[in-house]
Amino acid sequence: MSSAPLIAVKLTAAEILLLDGKTRPEVQTLVDQARRQIEIEGAGADPRIAALVSEALREATEKRKLVYRGVSITFCRVCDRDEGYHPYHRSGRKGGVYRRRGEPDRSNPVSFGAIELRDSGVRISGYVSLGCCDRCWVKAAPLLREALRGVCADLPQELTGQPRRWRLVDEMKCSKCEWTGPETDMRPSLTFMGDGYFPSGCPACDARNELFTSPIKRSGGTVLIDLPAARRALLADVLKKTEDREPHRWSVGEFVGRAKIQLGEVPEVVRKISRTFDLNPESGAALRAEVSHELAAAPAA
Ligand SMILES: [Zn+2]
Ligand SMILES: [Zn+2]
Repeated sequence: MSSAPLIAVKLTAAEILLLDGKTRPEVQTLVDQARRQIEIEGAGADPRIAALVSEALREATEKRKLVYRGVSITFCRVCDRDEGYHPYHRSGRKGGVYRRRGEPDRSNPVSFGAIELRDSGVRISGYVSLGCCDRCWVKAAPLLREALRGVCADLPQELTGQPRRWRLVDEMKCSKCEWTGPETDMRPSLTFMGDGYFPSGCPACDARNELFTSPIKRSGGTVLIDLPAARRALLADVLKKTEDREPHRWSVGEFVGRAKIQLGEVPEVVRKISRTFDLNPESGAALRAEVSHELAAAPAA
């Protein structure tokens, strides 16, 4: 079936639904999208808003990630909003043609705020790939929030109303040992400027990516990281470090780097440990109590 020539066609959601269960898997995701669109519409939503929400839901399910990015556009494809052109401020010749003050300047369309939801490497200014204008967003946001409930994907708090639960990162593969895992599990190094950390070393062997050699490469895959679980694992490792049962290979500073790279923030207790532990390992007992306390309080997955 995959070798059969394909025909491009545009169908309504109701028409696509007729293909349910009869088509290739990649088309079935469109059937599911169409079904959601009809459901959302049935609940009283504007059909074009329902189409946007169901498309965003498919993107979140397939790509496992959505973003929330403010952009400015001059035309909204969801509501056809178009604010026209700015008028000429004064009369005179422009581009060889006489323009009267107040006449619309067709080279200068009025732009307005919009939201981009698709995480794409390419950013075209004045254009949204998956999204809508700020007025449509007011209607779409609560429906999308509802639709995204329970979806395992990297979703910003602006979309779900909840702190980010998952994070999508590149999967890396070490060529010196067998390690494969998320980029955020790599051993961190201080940046050249010393103002931050970046993932540089294999967590399982001594391999390290340097200026001219990179033994740890992208595998081409991605990994969805459970952030609360990553936080618990980090605290457990820090606890081990302060207990010094088995001296951990990593310095406390490297744990700070790992927290920044993996969680995007450094838990207060890790920060405290980084300030005092290397200087005064005896401070370990009090800090250990604090880490244990935070671990106990951390919500289970
Ligand atoms: Zn709009
Ligand atoms: Zn390795």
